[in-house]
Amino acid sequence: MLPGLASRILRTTHKRCLWKFAWNFGVKGMLSVEKFKRRIKRGEYFPPFLYLSIINSCNLRCQGCWVDVEEKDDIDLDTLNRTITDAKRHGNAFFGILGGEPFMHPELLDLLAAHPDCYFQLFTNGQFITEKVATRLRDLGNATPLVSIEGREITSDARRGKKDVFNKTMRGLEHCLRARLLTGVATSICQSNIDELLTEQWLQELIHRGVHYVWYHTYRPVGPKMNPQLALRPDQLVRVRKFVVEKRARMPIAIIDAYYDHDGQALCPMATGISHHISPRGDIEPCPIIQFATETIRDPRGLYATMRDSAFLRDFRELSAKATRGCVVLERPDLIKELVIRHGARDTTARGTALAEIEAMRPRFSQWLPGEEVPERHWMYRLTKKYWFCDFGAYRNVAHDAEAKALELKSKLDPAAQKVDTFAAAGVS
Ligand code: SF4
Repeated sequence: MLPGLASRILRTTHKRCLWKFAWNFGVKGMLSVEKFKRRIKRGEYFPPFLYLSIINSCNLRCQGCWVDVEEKDDIDLDTLNRTITDAKRHGNAFFGILGGEPFMHPELLDLLAAHPDCYFQLFTNGQFITEKVATRLRDLGNATPLVSIEGREITSDARRGKKDVFNKTMRGLEHCLRARLLTGVATSICQSNIDELLTEQWLQELIHRGVHYVWYHTYRPVGPKMNPQLALRPDQLVRVRKFVVEKRARMPIAIIDAYYDHDGQALCPMATGISHHISPRGDIEPCPIIQFATETIRDPRGLYATMRDSAFLRDFRELSAKATRGCVVLERPDLIKELVIRHGARDTTARGTALAEIEAMRPRFSQWLPGEEVPERHWMYRLTKKYWFCDFGAYRNVAHDAEAKALELKSKLDPAAQKVDTFAAAGVS
């Protein structure tokens, strides 16, 4: 599959975009992870990959969204530039840009232009990517749009709370591809779209359209309007992983998943410290779905020192890694509540109900299903993950009781247990 993918990318991507991807993301990204490993040895944590939600406004109203999309908070350009410049001083070159809808930020393109030595991944619904915007992105060359598609016509409208979402998003996608941008499609797999989008036919269609990579997330029921009925069952989580491993070894399209190492062991990228999240108000959060913070990017110490010295982030990483290789928020919301209270962490939402939302959560399965590991099959993914996307030793102190609990959980994965969708309903306390 690799020669097919490489030739497709070479034929369909503008050379400036290709060069920036190879150098800013590929080479500098690897070097930034090497620096991160050296920092860990000194006991210092500062993530090489930062995710910034630069605005919370959005034109869509997705089921289960935890962002305050009715609000108009955004991070101004000066603060964004200062944040990125500080991270660059410590070897960072890659930044994930999220929202809300990042293209609703009036200075997004100015931000990209101010950092030609960095690479940005733009998580977008694609609807604001006109021909003109796509051309500007091509001229800049240092960003890849990752367009989210949550189902075909009918499913998309239901999932995203507006009409004609699929067609409008496909138009944005088309503009990206015509401008020869390196372009991806992201899907949060859930009950309503798993049979539509976790299929070889869908990947074929994306390849036919010219899409270069796909990112499969799995839906996590959190936030003010959580939809547990959309969450995947354990057997479906394993199905997603098997699909990804098999198709990425065989089809000429890159497939990203962010919750497993080269041996197929589960991990949480925020527990390993490779990443953390900055909210639209500038709060520094452990991850996008933990909307609590004790520090902000406006701290006069600067971003690096603020994150390095954050006891809240440190305790989150340690607590998470000790509790589970999976998602601590889904499996142990009680621990997140304790952490927040112990640190007196602020609720970073505009709605001010984040603690009540955590209290309302019931423990459930996440990506950690011991005995169900699916190791990478393709050498390129094995190698890349082994050196640059692993647990970085975060789980060496995994408590035996956590493992025992996970094994107990796994023993319940018989066909009957698979019909229920929550950890608690499976009888695991
Ligand atoms: S805590 Fe859960 S949602 Fe957050 S990064 Fe880790 S696995 Fe993902």
